[in-house]
Amino acid sequence: MGKIPSILMIYTGGTIGMVKDYGTGALKAFDFEGLLKHIPELGQLTCNIKNTSLTDPIDSSNMNPVYWEELVSIIETHYHDHDGFVVLHGSDTMSYSASALSFMLENLNKPIIFTGSQLPIGDLRTDAKENLITALQIAAAQEHGNPIIREVCLYFEYKLYRGNRTTKINAEHFEAFNSPNYPSLAESGFNLKIHHANLLVRPKKSKALVVHKKMDQNVAILKLFPGMGAVLLDSILRTPQLKVLILETYGAGNAPTDEWFLNTLEQAIKSGIHIINVTQCAGGSVVMGHYETSKQLSQIQLIDGKDITTEAAVTKAMYLVGSGVSDALFKTVFETSLRGEMH
Ligand code: ASP
Repeated sequence: MGKIPSILMIYTGGTIGMVKDYGTGALKAFDFEGLLKHIPELGQLTCNIKNTSLTDPIDSSNMNPVYWEELVSIIETHYHDHDGFVVLHGSDTMSYSASALSFMLENLNKPIIFTGSQLPIGDLRTDAKENLITALQIAAAQEHGNPIIREVCLYFEYKLYRGNRTTKINAEHFEAFNSPNYPSLAESGFNLKIHHANLLVRPKKSKALVVHKKMDQNVAILKLFPGMGAVLLDSILRTPQLKVLILETYGAGNAPTDEWFLNTLEQAIKSGIHIINVTQCAGGSVVMGHYETSKQLSQIQLIDGKDITTEAAVTKAMYLVGSGVSDALFKTVFETSLRGEMH
């Protein structure tokens, strides 16, 4: 029998780590040292589990690149002496964090599984136990002594997804996430079924992990709506230091053909701001030039976001600008899939 996998569980905050104080009814942070006592099932897993946490665990609505940097630093420190990582995270911004980490960790060769829950771990009907136990099991899954999953994933309610393909779709249901443009990587049912064909293709020779910690925050997201005025568009584009605007367009990447609209975008692009066309639809892809209403966007050099999620687009933009990708290369690099985030 091979070596027992060693998994590091990193608590960042969120509902999953809460217990209800039945005296006051309030939610309070869970003592992770006592985890095994509360979930004795963990003792049956064939892996060694260690745990650590962010210095100050947060509700994930407070997430920002400073915490991402702390998170990747923890992973970097423990990368060589662990076989996999489970990140316990609030569900609200989990898709953003999973996307961010997928870009920040280049040449990743081990599983990083994000999970959380809709109900606190101490709640009678909690979804936390199943999510946590299966996430740990997936992180520990190996073949020939190597981890099966070697990418940043999100596990929630019986499904494992590529993290940078996910989006939070429901604030109440246990099935809180979806991956509209990419199939699941694994499903938990009677057995744990891994869909090998959907996993990221790994390079033959594994390269050393490269950790990118600089995420540039000079990015913005603007969702189009009928009636949006010139003043709004203009003022967003005049944001000091703005480098990238993610423009959430209609359907297959369509936008108004008004002259003021196209001229404003064109001027901004000429002044060095990168504008990315992503669809505001829950699923499907931008197809630049398919309709007259997107042909002109293509002509003025809007970047084609294809089927990327807004969460992945904004974090990819932060990563590329942070890494110092030149203005001349930005469009080409953005339109290339780096971590399986677009087709
Ligand atoms: N507001 C919480 C958070 O995102 C919700 C959750 O944990 O799912 O941290």
